Order: sequence, then C-alpha cells, then structure tokens
Amino acid sequence: MPVIEVNGVVKRYRDVTAVDEVSLRVQPGQIYALLGLNGAGKTTLIRMLLGMIAPTRGSVHVLGAAVSAGDRSAWARVGYLVEAPAAYPELTVRENLELVRRLRRLPGVTANVTGVADVIDQLALTPYADRRARTLSLGNLQRLALAKALIHIPDLLILDEPVNGLDPAGVVEIRTLLAGLAHQHGTTVLLSSHLLAEVARLATRIGILHHGRLRAEHHADQLDRQRHRHLHLTTRDDTAADHALRAHGYHPHPADGGGLQLTDEHALTRPDQVATVLVHADVPPTRLVTVEEDLETYFLRIVGADHA
Ligand code: ATP
Repeated sequence: MPVIEVNGVVKRYRDVTAVDEVSLRVQPGQIYALLGLNGAGKTTLIRMLLGMIAPTRGSVHVLGAAVSAGDRSAWARVGYLVEAPAAYPELTVRENLELVRRLRRLPGVTANVTGVADVIDQLALTPYADRRARTLSLGNLQRLALAKALIHIPDLLILDEPVNGLDPAGVVEIRTLLAGLAHQHGTTVLLSSHLLAEVARLATRIGILHHGRLRAEHHADQLDRQRHRHLHLTTRDDTAADHALRAHGYHPHPADGGGLQLTDEHALTRPDQVATVLVHADVPPTRLVTVEEDLETYFLRIVGADHA
C-alpha cells in the first residue's frame, strides 16, 4: 500500500490555481522529491498532505488514512518540517527538543524512540546543545528543525526544502542522514526542493512540479537517460567535415560557439567511428567530446523555462 496517495488534487485561491490536478503515489521506503521553481505549488501540496489546508478538489491519503483538514490523527507517525524553521528563541537546543519530546508525549528513551541526546548527536548539534536557539546560524536552526521532525523516528518524514540554508557539508550530512533512516528504519521521505542536482543524489524518485502541475516523474536512476546529449567536434575545416559526415549518414549542425554538433544515436555510441570518417576525409578532429545536458538545464527544459 502506498504511504502517500494523492488523487486529482486541486487547490485554488481565488484566481490562482496553486495545485492543479496532481496525482502521485509514494511507496514505502522511497525518498520522493518534489522538485519545482518558486511558486510551483510544493508547499501548498505538502500542507494538504499534513491536513493543514483542505484541497479544493481531490483526495489525499497518508499512511492508509484519508487526510482531512484539522485531523491530526496520523501526525504521531509523521515527522514534518514546513517552511521557516521555528524554535523557541530563548530556549537552548536541548530544551527545545525536550519540549517537543514532551508535547509529543514520547517516553524518555525506548527501543524505537530516539532520545534527545541521540538526535542532537545525529544532527551534529552537540557543540550547540546548550546554546539558545536565537543565537544559532540559519544552517543550525535548520538542523534543529530536522531534529524536531526526527525525534520519534517517524514512519513518514515530510520536509519542505530541508537543505535550505545549509552549506555544502551540511547538505551532504542531511543526505547521509535521510538515506540512513530510509535504509535502517524503512522511513519513507517526501521532500521538496528547487535544486535538481541536490535531490538527484538523494531521492529515489523525483516528481517535477510546475505551475501546480506534475510535469514528469522519474526514478532517480532513469534521469541520466532523459538528459540530452550531443557530440561536439571541431576541425580545421568545418565545411569539409560537414560534407564528409553527411556522406556517411550523419546529420551535423553548427554548434553554438563554433564547430559542429551531432545528436545521431550512432555518433553518440561510437564517437571513434566519427573520428575515423574525419581522418579519412583529411579533416581530423582537433576536439571531439560528448556533452551532456546538466541537471539544472534538463529541469528548466522540462518546465519550459529554459529561455525565461
Ligand atoms: P516556494 O519555493 O517559493 O515556497 P512553492 O512551490 O512552495 O514555492 P507555493 O507556496 O505552494 O509554491 O505557492 C504556489 C502558488 O500558490 C503561488 O503562486 C502562490 O502565490 C499561491 N499561493 C499559495 N498560498 C496562497 C494563499 N494562501 N493565498 C493565495 N495564493 C496562494
């Protein structure tokens, strides 16, 4: 049974359709990333998953139960972080976490519940444990917010922009932490981000949201196949090279910034044969390289924003 099931969900605010006919499923143990530019509808969708707002139309099921606005019954099994990390500024990191533990009525330490000390350690907050929250950097405040979401080892973790404000080392830490949770405890994770390169290394499945619509869904390991690739070459005489290649069934076209580019599948799989053709035509390549669309360019192409 899917951990999250979203069916035909629409959320409208007067003339703005924030989420438009979205259906998706998140399976147990998956790390699902909702990817979208600012305003794509990620936060709105996440709020509906948590019953913080009601959809205009459609239904949401989380952990097998229908979610309705204001119903907090599933929250005991869900850890979440939505929008700006909030903490009591005058309390220390340890006190903030202790408060969450009590509010959630969690026992001190049991077999499947992490203690405050454990979660502080897991999130590398030990040096800051006795510092007041208001003195923390944005990155450490984000860590504290994650610690609050994780304190009870939830079955499902819902995180809106979890790596926002973290430095590259912090991003790697969070990635390792989430992958470890998914592995060791079978925790299912749904997170949102606007950085494809970041989530590509973390998520097992990626849904691309744009203007409230789910434009594409991929398994992370399929992502490579979706990206455009071409062979870029330069020679001392591109006109002669163009003729020689056409005579051998290739379809070269001028590349931006000079040289030729080939997108023919057999050119990409056998660039050595392209080189051989050019050598025989007496225009050997001075440069021959396979160029792969980077993840962000791919993402912008999918959402149709590449010329924006
Ligand atoms: P960001 O990364 O900037 O947080 P997002 O993908 O989370 O973006 P949402 O916050 O879900 O996007 O917003 C989606 C759209 O819905 C935006 O156009 C936003 O202005 C609009 N919207 C969200 N909440 C409301 C609201 N309460 N009233 C009116 N419009 C809203």
